[in-house]
Amino acid sequence: MTRPNSKIAQEVAMRRTFGIISHPDAGKTTLTEKLLLFGGAIQTAGAVKAKKAQRHATSDWMAIEQERGISVTTSVMKFNYRDYEVNLLDTPGHQDFSEDTYRVLTAVDSALMVIDSARGVETQTEKLMAVCRMRNTPIITFINKLDREGMFPLDILSDIEDKLQIECIPMSWPIGMGKRFKGVYNLYKKEISLFNPGEDNKPKEVVTIKDLNDPVLDEILGSQADELREDIELLEGAASPFEMRHYLSGSQTPVFFGSAINNFGVRELLDAFVEMAPAPSPRATSTRMVSPEEESFSGFAFKIQANMDPAHRDRIAFVRICSGKFTRGMKVMHHRLGKEITISNATIFMAQDRSHVDEAWPGDIIGVHNHGTVKIGDTFSAKEPLKFTGIPNFAPEIFRRVILKNPLKLKQLQKGLTQLAEEGAVQFFRPVNAPDYILGAVGSLQFEVTMHRLKAEYSVDAIYENANFGVARWIHCEDPKKFAEFEKKHSHNLARDAEGHLTFLTTTEWQLGFVEEQWPDVVFLKTREAD
Ligand code: GDP
Repeated sequence: MTRPNSKIAQEVAMRRTFGIISHPDAGKTTLTEKLLLFGGAIQTAGAVKAKKAQRHATSDWMAIEQERGISVTTSVMKFNYRDYEVNLLDTPGHQDFSEDTYRVLTAVDSALMVIDSARGVETQTEKLMAVCRMRNTPIITFINKLDREGMFPLDILSDIEDKLQIECIPMSWPIGMGKRFKGVYNLYKKEISLFNPGEDNKPKEVVTIKDLNDPVLDEILGSQADELREDIELLEGAASPFEMRHYLSGSQTPVFFGSAINNFGVRELLDAFVEMAPAPSPRATSTRMVSPEEESFSGFAFKIQANMDPAHRDRIAFVRICSGKFTRGMKVMHHRLGKEITISNATIFMAQDRSHVDEAWPGDIIGVHNHGTVKIGDTFSAKEPLKFTGIPNFAPEIFRRVILKNPLKLKQLQKGLTQLAEEGAVQFFRPVNAPDYILGAVGSLQFEVTMHRLKAEYSVDAIYENANFGVARWIHCEDPKKFAEFEKKHSHNLARDAEGHLTFLTTTEWQLGFVEEQWPDVVFLKTREAD
């Protein structure tokens, strides 16, 4: 890495802030653990796993509480690797999959995509990839579980290309799979890394092959040598060359093969990741682009974590630093409130051995304690009023109707839901011609947390009923006459969200498509920027 001159440019150049996108069970936790082991952030295998097991033990209230306590510390995993400071932002999956999972991706500079070699591209990966597409986030792909029988490598690549519309550029190529898995051939270094199963951290044997016709290949691979030769010949004829600019613009993904549980292919992946993945880059605000190397501090809140203990109603807002240097005790402008605030009690997420650090740089995440004054998307900056864009609300996918047990608590319900919506815990909608409260989320745990917090923090006793909706879209139309017609025709499908924006609610994507076709002048949006 060539060293830039200014201190801030140096700090920016060494930072890598990323998230992992994958479907549950593809191996995200296992891979995270191996990455942290390489980075020295944990000492023993099993540490991340244990937390995960604890997290999913039960879904009763205590478990949510535990999960929330734990996830503050695992939300940002910081480690050093070679010359780099790596921030791995957790993208919650399984039962705790939520809008936070999507929003975390608005705060990263790149992503690692983990695919199970037997299952190919799965639904949650598709959803997370769609979020990455919004900012053309660069993606490196890891095909996991080669120690098991899976799909043919070429079939996995075409599955990714078809479903995710991104060109795959293999950087390594597997030699066999399952019982016949021998290792991977690095197409660029022209080396073979031989596989020997086991979770230890010992370096594996690496054989450099100058020429694929080398008889050494037959000695070590036997009959599989010819298979490899054929595969490589096929690849060289078919695959485009890797181009950095295409990776950085999100149109190509370099692909690695390995087995996370056997720690095979992980170091190679991490080496490529720190070398290729982008450092923090300029970000858009409503007025101008902000470069990370600007001296003046700026950042935005992308996640809010409430303390579930009713005695401590504080919240932590996770703020991604976009420019300048952050120092403890710093005064910053809270743009939406137009007020100056002192960030004295910020949590700076740091590697374990550097807990006394009092400063943070672009790409780092700080946790700002507050009592409900921070909303998702809020911007903090030193002097100039700025508002970062690209931290939207995502259309919910599951819905519930709230039924109050005591109708006199309507005011508290409204207040509670408004605050919870500002924190991004849940979204709510008021149908235009019914006095209902419809909650929307992308993960069902969001409903459990909402119900508990309504009771604990707002003394609201309520239950859920199924709501017959499966799709929501924010709508607008340039032609007021057409829009009025549309509103009249579909009033039973219209609702206003927490900020008063008109939303179209319907049962299925198919139904939505039908309505979209009938009303070409109406725009149906899957995301909406916060006001
Ligand atoms: P996550 O849900 O994506 O976080 O997935 P986990 O890391 O928890 O892994 C899901 C399951 O796959 C666990 O039982 C892992 O032990 C297993 N697993 C992870 N990586 C590998 C691998 O390389 N090979 C095999 N055979 N199993 C793996």
